[in-house]
Amino acid sequence: MKYIGAHVSAQGGVENAPVNANEIGAKAFALFTKNQRQWFANPLTKASIKSFRENCEKFDFKPFQILPHDSYLINLGHPEREALEKSRDSFLDEMQRCEQLGLDRLNFHPGSHLNAISVDDCLKRIAESINIVLDKTRGVSAVIENTAGQGTNLGHRFEQLSEIIFHVEDKSRVGVCIDTCHAFTSGYNVKTAEGFAETFKHFDEIVGFKYLKGMHLNDSKKDLGTRVDRHDNLGAGLMGEEIFYLIMNDSRFDDMPLILETPDESFWEAEIKKLYSFVRK
Ligand SMILES: [Zn+2]
Ligand SMILES: [Zn+2]
Repeated sequence: MKYIGAHVSAQGGVENAPVNANEIGAKAFALFTKNQRQWFANPLTKASIKSFRENCEKFDFKPFQILPHDSYLINLGHPEREALEKSRDSFLDEMQRCEQLGLDRLNFHPGSHLNAISVDDCLKRIAESINIVLDKTRGVSAVIENTAGQGTNLGHRFEQLSEIIFHVEDKSRVGVCIDTCHAFTSGYNVKTAEGFAETFKHFDEIVGFKYLKGMHLNDSKKDLGTRVDRHDNLGAGLMGEEIFYLIMNDSRFDDMPLILETPDESFWEAEIKKLYSFVRK
C-alpha cells in the first residue's frame, strides 16, 4: 500500500498538521515539530501533544505514515566543537519532541564539512552525533536524507549514506529517506525507466532497501548533476512523470511516508490524486 502526503503546515501547533494533511486527501504527512529556522523552541505543551495524538487517531495516521523533518540550522557533522555541540543538543531536542508525539522516525540532512575537515571525518562525526542522540532517546529512528550535494553538503552519494550507517551502533534505529529531486540533481538519472532501475539497484547494493524509511517526491527545476536543490511541482520541472509512475507501481516503496515537498502547495491535493491514479489496477 502506498501512503502519499505532503509536508504540511504545523502553524498554530503540531496538532494542526494531521488536520491539514487530511484536508488535502493525504495518507501520510511531514511536519516541523517547531519553527525550522530556530535552534530551540518552547517545549510542546501537554495539551498540544494530546491533541496531536487524538487528531492522528481520528484521521488514521499511524507513526509509519508520518515523517517529521528537523531544523535546517542543524549540522551534525560541523567541524567546530561549539557549533557541533549546539547542533547535537538541538537534534536531541527534536528527537525528544518526536518521542513525546509518539512518532518513530525523524528525517534530517546529514551535514556539511564546510571545507574544514575531510569528507570521511565529517561522515564519522555525523555517525557519532547519531550515536549520542540515539543513546539518549527511545523508539525514534534517525532518518538520513540524501542531498543534492550543494556546497559542502554530504549525503549526495549512496556510498556516503552507507558510510554513516556503518558507524552507527544501533542499526535498528537508523534509516534513510530518498528525495527524488536531490537524487536527480546529485547525478542519478532517475528520470528514465532504465536509469531508475539502475539507480535503485545500486541503492539496494550500497545502502539496502531495508533502511528506506520514507521518500520525498519532488520534481526539479535544475538538471541532472547540477548539485543544486530546487524543487518543482510534479510534471512542471525537468524530471518528467515517469519516475513517479514507476515509484507508484513498485512495492519497494510500500508502507512508508511518500512526501511531496513541491513549492506550490495549492497543487498538493491534485498531485496526491494524480499519483494514486498512476497505480496500475
Ligand atoms: Zn527532501
Ligand atoms: Zn530539497
